Amino acid sequence: MSKLYLVPTPIGNLEDITLRAIRILKEADIILAEDTRNTSKLLKHFEIDKKMMSHHQFNEHKVVSGIVETISGGKSIALVSDAGTPAISDPGFLLVRECIKAGIEVECLPGPTAFIPALVNSGLPSDHFVFEGFLPHKKGRQTKLKQLAEQTYTMIFYESPFRLVKTLEQFAEHFGPQRKASISRELTKIHEETQRGSLSELILYYKNKTIKGEIVIIVSGEKL
Ligand code: SAM
Repeated sequence: MSKLYLVPTPIGNLEDITLRAIRILKEADIILAEDTRNTSKLLKHFEIDKKMMSHHQFNEHKVVSGIVETISGGKSIALVSDAGTPAISDPGFLLVRECIKAGIEVECLPGPTAFIPALVNSGLPSDHFVFEGFLPHKKGRQTKLKQLAEQTYTMIFYESPFRLVKTLEQFAEHFGPQRKASISRELTKIHEETQRGSLSELILYYKNKTIKGEIVIIVSGEKL
């Protein structure tokens, strides 16, 4: 039956793809990829030879109706992003919404995403958490930080290594330097590391270091 599949792909370690993800990528009529060059390396590794089409933040509005028509016409489409789960700080939401509107079945496979291992590794409460993804860079950043100062759930942020220290300093300013946090870098990769401590300890650890790789920041909620 024709469907939209959202297929999570590894965030570093290629062993993290599921058997079902490989099968769905093999069986789909078309794979929609955020970056076809990137995904072709993954497909080659798993010996999958499949027609690919581009689907990224710059063309998703333009291509969405054509994709909906293709699936309605009987084809199955698998959406992948560069890494992790599509629609999690990556394109996907718009396509899912439009497919649901058109009565198309949507199925997201469980699989790799960066924020779950970062949250669990942090040792901070994982019973209630809020995923904030990337904070706005300029407009709305201060308002958001002020709102988050009252958040009691554990908070999850995606951040670039170049902005890490600046962001930690702003967190310390708004949440207090003693607030507990955890930084997971290069999850599932050779240089994976998690640093835990207060915001001030983490600032001290990362300041004056060249920070490389991909980063998730976990911050404890406010203790009432
Ligand atoms: N869709 C992805 C997911 O499911 O996690 C997220 C894509 S978002 C464009 C990329 C961000 O995810 C990175 O800047 C980083 O914050 C986080 N990320 C992705 N892979 C990571 C890894 N291996 N280690 C730590 N963080 C990672």
